[in-house]
Order: sequence, then C-alpha cells, then structure tokens
Amino acid sequence: MSKPQPKDWIMGIAPYVPGKSSSDSGQKLVKLSANENPLGCSPAAKQALSDASGEVPRYPDPGSTKLREAIAAKHDLDPARIICGTGSDDILHLAANAFSGPGDEIIYVRYGFAVYDIAARRYGGTPVIADDVNYGTDVDAILAKVTDRTRVVFIANPNNPTGTLSSAEEIRRLQAALPAHVLLVLDGAYAEYLEADEDDQALEMAATLPNVLVTRTFSKIHGLAAERIGWGYGPEEIIGAMNRIRLPFNVTTAGQEAALAALASEDFVASSREHNRRWRQWLSDELTGMGNHGLRVIPSHTNFLLVLLEGKVTAEQANNALMEKGYAVRWLPGQGLVNGLRITIGTEEETRGVAAALRAILEAA
Ligand code: PMP
Repeated sequence: MSKPQPKDWIMGIAPYVPGKSSSDSGQKLVKLSANENPLGCSPAAKQALSDASGEVPRYPDPGSTKLREAIAAKHDLDPARIICGTGSDDILHLAANAFSGPGDEIIYVRYGFAVYDIAARRYGGTPVIADDVNYGTDVDAILAKVTDRTRVVFIANPNNPTGTLSSAEEIRRLQAALPAHVLLVLDGAYAEYLEADEDDQALEMAATLPNVLVTRTFSKIHGLAAERIGWGYGPEEIIGAMNRIRLPFNVTTAGQEAALAALASEDFVASSREHNRRWRQWLSDELTGMGNHGLRVIPSHTNFLLVLLEGKVTAEQANNALMEKGYAVRWLPGQGLVNGLRITIGTEEETRGVAAALRAILEAA
C-alpha cells in the first residue's frame, strides 16, 4: 500500500446529493428542493440566534441540558432519555453506528431517505432494501427481509421522498413482529405536519418499548435547518450507547438557544402548518389537473409533494426546464425515482409560480 487506503465499504458509498439552490450556470433559483420552511423561523428564534452571538468564544453545553428539558416538558418525556444532535442526521448515524458494523444488516424501504444508506455503510453494515407498496412503506416486505443479522430498521413516517404515512397500527404491527434484538428507528422529521388524528404514536412507543428510537428535527416546521439541531428519544441503554460515541459539543450554543425559542413559538408552528396544509392542497389540485399530461400526484402528509411524470415530458426534462425558468425542485434518480419530482411547498408566490412554470413546460411539449 503506497498511500492511505479508505476501507472498501467507504468507497462503496454514493455521496449525499443536496437539493440545489442555483443552476449549473450559477443562476440563483427559487429553492423548492430541500423541504425547508418557506416562512423562515419564528421571530423569537431569530432573536435568540442574534442574542447568542456574545457566547461565541465559549464551548456550548455538551449535554444540551436546557433544550432536553424543554423538549421533555413539551412532549411529556424523560429528559435523561433524550439525545440532541447536529441535525437529526447525526442521530440517525449514531443509531446505525452504535448498533451495527461489518456483516450486519440495516433495512429500509425503497424510496427511503438517502442518509439511511450512508449511515448503514459507514461502519461496514449492509443496506437491505424492502419493496414499497404504492410508494409507501410495506410492513410485510420489511418483515420478509429480517434475518438474524438484522440490527436496525429505519422508517421515516411520514416518508421522504414519497410523503406517504403508515398508521399507528401498522407501525405497532411491525414492532411487535421484529425480533427483540432489532432497533426500530422511527424518523419523525415531518411529524409536526401531521393532523392530530394521524399521530403514529412513535413517542409513546419509544417511551415504553425496549427497542424503539424516535428521531425529530428543528430543520423543518421550526425553520432552523441552517443551525443543525435534531433530537432522539429512546430507552436509557440505547441513548447511553449513542452518547458514548456522540461528539461532545454537537449542538452549538446559538442552536440550543434558537431551538428553545422555537419550541415556545407555538403560533409560528401553527401558522406554518396551516400555510402548508393550504398550499399543499392547492398544489396537489393544480398538478392533478395536469393529469392529461401524464402527471400523477402521490398523496402527501409532509411539506412536499412527489409527482410522477408518466407522459411525454420526462421528470429529467421537466427538472431541467424548471431550472431554466428559475425553480429548483428535486429529481431523485439516485433513489430509484427516475420518473418523479419532489416539490417543496413554498410561499404562495413560489407555489403558484412553480405550478405555472410546470404547466407551461407540459403544454409546450
Ligand atoms: N429524516 C428525513 C426523513 C429527512 O427528510 C431529513 C431532512 N431531509 C432528515 C431526517 C434530516 O434532517 P436534519 O438533519 O436537518 O434534522
């Protein structure tokens, strides 16, 4: 060996491809490619961020203590069983890395979140893909993939990039049928967009069952994606294992303060949810109205829509043409969605704009 050699499995990882915000020629685009909050973050969170600037020379609280206590109070949880992370991506990696290694298997669904693949492979685990059912999670397909080498199952509920939701009954059925040694990670990045009667009971499961971990984020409805703040909740031993390998100062002081303020900003969260509900319905109706051009909308429970292009214009062509018209949406061929575009719900102007642009593209073809 004449130079440092990465482990074979590292070179097998396809790098994460982030949502675009500018075109290949450098033109700034309306960014509807990363499921961010088009309304920004709450005024209190913004204020907390600027107030925290005086703390910059000091290391942050390594245990995110106040933030864990506030999350616990909000959701009626035990703060000792909460772990905070550099985005929920951090928590997903910690879970995979603490519970699996070379020779172990990690299951997730086809059309699942791209980070699961990277987290699974990072320490030599083998990703195992379970077939979807109508783009949604198929509990039986997951169970059929379980072997004695399975260590972790990742489920995003609702799911990204499909927007689909599995019911509490289905998630409970999965947990009940999994062998006790398998960690079930319920990724609730979009949980705040659900209606009250759609709750999948993930937090209750994590509170009472020995093998369930929930992850949540401040990047979506709270509008704090740039600050990188996420959290997990699970049994003490699971959180304890993850805390051993967590980087000590993994959430910045500004991030902890902003997240605290965001948690208290209930009006902002409610209006973000309402905005999303309204414009998601509007966009869904508009795109469904383009069904004669081969568009098919997958019903969504999140802040984005997956639309399939099954007519004359391919998803790749539509993606490129939208970019020329100033809009970045997400084409996801790397996740097997060659004919799909994922469109984040934007402001009213952005949402109307992207729908009009897509209609013009389809009509001109
Ligand atoms: N899980 C899912 C399903 C997501 O879509 C995302 C963001 N794209 C994340 C987790 C990670 O978000 P963050 O690291 O910003 O918390």
